[in-house]
Amino acid sequence: MSAPLERIGVLGGTFDPIHHGHLAAASEVCAALDLDRMLLVPTNVQPFKTDVTSAPAHHRLEMCRLAVKGDERFGVSAVDVDRGGVTYTVDTLRDLGREYPDAQLYFVTGADALERFSQWRDAHVLSTLATFVGVTRPGHSLGQSDTPHSLVEVPALAVSSTDVRRRVGAGAPIRYLVPRAVADYIAQHDLYSGGSDE
Ligand code: ATP
Ligand code: MG
Repeated sequence: MSAPLERIGVLGGTFDPIHHGHLAAASEVCAALDLDRMLLVPTNVQPFKTDVTSAPAHHRLEMCRLAVKGDERFGVSAVDVDRGGVTYTVDTLRDLGREYPDAQLYFVTGADALERFSQWRDAHVLSTLATFVGVTRPGHSLGQSDTPHSLVEVPALAVSSTDVRRRVGAGAPIRYLVPRAVADYIAQHDLYSGGSDE
């Protein structure tokens, strides 16, 4: 009898910065689908955000690494950052498929991102590369979609990276919205405040 396939979740995102909404979603999907682990995969350049200034990839990657410390289910993959250029999920999944040939991949997407699924590059082949898992997100509904995916209800956390960036810019607190180490990192490197360490 062959060993069961390893079940690996993949949560792609800009993670600019990573926050507790991401971590709660990742954790809930791990539990609901009985995954062995969950990889957070920061994008290099996001196709729908090419005009938005974001913190450089090395900072976003490092904040993800800090955020997952202490939870052995979670890991961080630099495949997208290392490949460079605009990040397309089809490339992410192909690269991870090569890296983990014996695993079943579960690609996790929040309700907001799923709304645009049909616009993703090579949308028709994506479902052959991974099982798509939609997660609930406050302010967005999981409507009719032509993608095969399972749905996981995540305890609602109405936090977004946009809000975290705005808060930093306005001097409002971000503690408890992001992990402590991430808040410290943002302060240390003067990210999102109009400072120059970018
Ligand atoms: P931004 O405001 O910059 O777009 P974001 O908070 O949406 O940032 P992303 O990096 O764009 O974060 O999201 C990565 C993935 O995590 C997406 O699939 C998104 O839908 C999902 N996600 C982000 N925040 C939440 C949340 N609070 N609850 C559930 N899913 C979330
Ligand atoms: Mg987003």
